[in-house]
Amino acid sequence: MSKYILAIDQGTTSSRAMIIDDNLKIISISQQEVANTFPKPGWVQMSASEIWTSVQYVCLNAIEKAKIDVKDIKTIGITNQRETTIVWDKKTGLPVYDALVWQSRQTNELCEKAVRAGYTDVIKRKTGLPIDPYFSSSKIRWILDNIENGQKRAENGELLFGTVDSWLVYKLTNGSVHITDVTNASRTMLMNLDTLKWDQELLDIWNVPNCMLPEIKDSSEIYGYTHIFGTKLPIAACVGDQQSALFGQMCFEKGQCKNTYGTGCFLLFNTGNKRVESKNGLVTTVGWKIKDEIVYALEGSVFVAGAAIQWLRDGLKVIEKASETERIAYELESSDGVYVVPAFTGLGAPYWDQNAKGAIFGLTRGTTTNHIIRATLESLAYQTYDLIEAMQQDTDLTIAALQVDGGACRNNYLMQFQSDLLQTKIVRPENFETTALGAAMLAGLATGIFVDKNDLIDKYKVEQKFEPYLNSMQVQKLIYGWKKAIKATMEF
Ligand code: ADP
Repeated sequence: MSKYILAIDQGTTSSRAMIIDDNLKIISISQQEVANTFPKPGWVQMSASEIWTSVQYVCLNAIEKAKIDVKDIKTIGITNQRETTIVWDKKTGLPVYDALVWQSRQTNELCEKAVRAGYTDVIKRKTGLPIDPYFSSSKIRWILDNIENGQKRAENGELLFGTVDSWLVYKLTNGSVHITDVTNASRTMLMNLDTLKWDQELLDIWNVPNCMLPEIKDSSEIYGYTHIFGTKLPIAACVGDQQSALFGQMCFEKGQCKNTYGTGCFLLFNTGNKRVESKNGLVTTVGWKIKDEIVYALEGSVFVAGAAIQWLRDGLKVIEKASETERIAYELESSDGVYVVPAFTGLGAPYWDQNAKGAIFGLTRGTTTNHIIRATLESLAYQTYDLIEAMQQDTDLTIAALQVDGGACRNNYLMQFQSDLLQTKIVRPENFETTALGAAMLAGLATGIFVDKNDLIDKYKVEQKFEPYLNSMQVQKLIYGWKKAIKATMEF
């Protein structure tokens, strides 16, 4: 008889729940959109109550759709949008302010103040992070400053803070468990990456009272139980979404890495039990912790990836569907020296140029829209190449393969071109839902559904592998052109 896992994937635009069986097969999925609000330019907020209501709905709906006996569900694993900050009242369990979403920039000034005060180095050394509104600490500060008596109430122990994982566990356990896991804590800018504990010096910098913080736990252990789905269920995993995908892609060994091709790209690189300091502007983070095993990762992101394909569709209106780009790219013999640098919101790692704007290079009389389409698609692969090159420089590790997921990894032309650029194998799994899968696997490990990681590896099904077709001379030429395009973009 199968044992089932309920995986919750709470994201910025939607909440999802899945029932996954002990062979890692997805039995049912339920999804509900959640609203983002933009009260002022650059601010992004969500209702924490709506997050909770939508999670309850998708869980119940996924259970119903699966048509299984609820008693056969053995555990819950949670993965979530990271950094998003919620503060709630301990007595009522109600949020005191909207959730401040990771993208939200309302704490720009607070962060600039921290930079001026000279905290950049100590924060980087202790947390692996650059001072930026992205992370939770300045968001907590902002909420406490913007509600009545915020600081006093927090110091009196009346308020609690949590990232989305904490909030969901708190609600699922009816307010009896206030925890987070190391991966989520590593994005708050308050946890010391070496001790894996809240760090008083960091708390002092942001003036955040210790008593409002959740207890930091492993990514895979039983934190508590929920009774709201008609059976007693252990909640046995919390893990940030990108780390969950790294785990779900079975990148268990040092040097293994995954890339998610979504609106942006998120590349995570397992650096083993040692944290690696990046010289190329990558972020050092925790991959996961299971008992004594701690895995660190380097993380790099591309701001505009699938979003560049959306621009072809909605901005330039030269395609109707994202998937058309595959056929168009295959129909051309080459991109004819055309490069698109989609720096619509500046350039991220390893270039870090906030002011860069997008550009197209190499146009001739022979250039057609299709060349521009193909070059735009290729820009996803070039940007990923840049991140991997940076990671290899930081670590001296060479990658043996890149595991891929996310909507745009369906594009065979893109995957082949990525393999060529990296001169490395690309591995695309049958199941793209690696984010939910990671949380399910971690919950299953904590509750004995899976014996160990080997048990999991056996269940990983590869859908397709892509091997390099171009030789390294041909690739060097292409990359030379890309680097010239980047340089010119930054000089413009
Ligand atoms: P997110 O989770 O960030 O919303 P998804 O993983 O659902 O993103 O991926 C959607 C993105 O992938 C969109 O930006 C879309 O333009 C792009 N995309 C989807 N399918 C393809 C395809 N076949 N070829 C190229 N890009 C695609």
